[in-house]
Amino acid sequence: MLLHSEGINLDANASYGLLPELESELRALFRSYSNPSSIHSGGQRSRALIEEARERVGLLLGCGNTERIVFTSGATEANAMAVRGILLAEPHQQEAQFLTTAIEHPSVLEQRCLLERFNVRTMVIAPDDNGIVRADEFGNSCTPHTKLVSVMLANNETGGIQPVREIAQIVRACQRKVLVHCDAVQALGKIPFTFAELGVDMLSISAHKIGGLTGVGALVLRRHMEISPLLRGGPQESKLRAGTENVFGIISFGLAAKYIQEDLAKRCAAMRERKTMLETVLRTELSQSVFLHVKDSLPNTLSVRIPGVKADDLVVALDLRGIQISSGAACSSGKPDPSHVLLAMGLSREEARETIRLSLRAETPLPDLERAARTLVQCVRGMEK
Ligand code: PLP
Repeated sequence: MLLHSEGINLDANASYGLLPELESELRALFRSYSNPSSIHSGGQRSRALIEEARERVGLLLGCGNTERIVFTSGATEANAMAVRGILLAEPHQQEAQFLTTAIEHPSVLEQRCLLERFNVRTMVIAPDDNGIVRADEFGNSCTPHTKLVSVMLANNETGGIQPVREIAQIVRACQRKVLVHCDAVQALGKIPFTFAELGVDMLSISAHKIGGLTGVGALVLRRHMEISPLLRGGPQESKLRAGTENVFGIISFGLAAKYIQEDLAKRCAAMRERKTMLETVLRTELSQSVFLHVKDSLPNTLSVRIPGVKADDLVVALDLRGIQISSGAACSSGKPDPSHVLLAMGLSREEARETIRLSLRAETPLPDLERAARTLVQCVRGMEK
């Protein structure tokens, strides 16, 4: 069984797939890992590798002594830690407010039910029909009870880049003590940014979205910020996340961060070139297709509606031909409901079900991509008959 599939991955926002450079480096470590909490030399070697990975992830985000990185089991856990760790850390005397957007990943939005039980009200800001939230709406919705604001940097379905820095500034002007969290999972490795530039207090990232392994992520925090851990027990991760570390996952995260940092501008340009090529073929060959016009969007993500063609049918037809795409977010596929992001942008349920997401890797050879684009066109034509 192969670790990664052999097909053409046009579903990189679901999982980027291991960066080719990592395979041999990780293989070399397979036989020689120990529990990083052990004091013997094997344990200490694993500990050193984890700390090296922390440094590499930090470098990619421009972090220094004023931030710390807590490794988690993924961005789902990092998001839960940010939201619960702040809003459920102490009982609220008065109702507290959590301000977020309608296009967040479910790992943020689904915290709502739990928060309500603890007297925390969630206020959800809708995007415009381009899939972008407006910073001034956060200013209008922020109250003296607002404790936490959470906004993603780039949306996983549309690629829409959100004005996080502006939102952080506006809410702080309204409420000095408010904390700001950003889910930067999809932006990392696709657009340049640093933790400091965003002006946030906490940021979530995930290894498998940048070419590392699944099952590892991180919450990046301002160093002196207090947060309540989700998992208590052992002293790992400065007592902020108990449990033996995912040594391989963390090493893969560090390596992916290192390779991306060395090459970020080139990688972004390669993604942009591939997106432009794909868009050109689709616009020419499928003139009925409707591109979700996100002005500011990730260089690798294209969201397209093909009227009369069910996205799920297209996913299956292309899969049979070795091409992976997605209808809406991968995390919610298998669930018949149309994407909450597309509905929030004003698409009807029918329109949302006709929308596919194409998300590209920088490494995909252009001839493969061209072949995938032609196959997509053929499949659509076959379905229209
Ligand atoms: N946030 C965003 C924007 C995502 O796209 C995803 C995964 O699709 C997650 C969070 C969850 O990440 P993980 O798979 O590491 O739990």
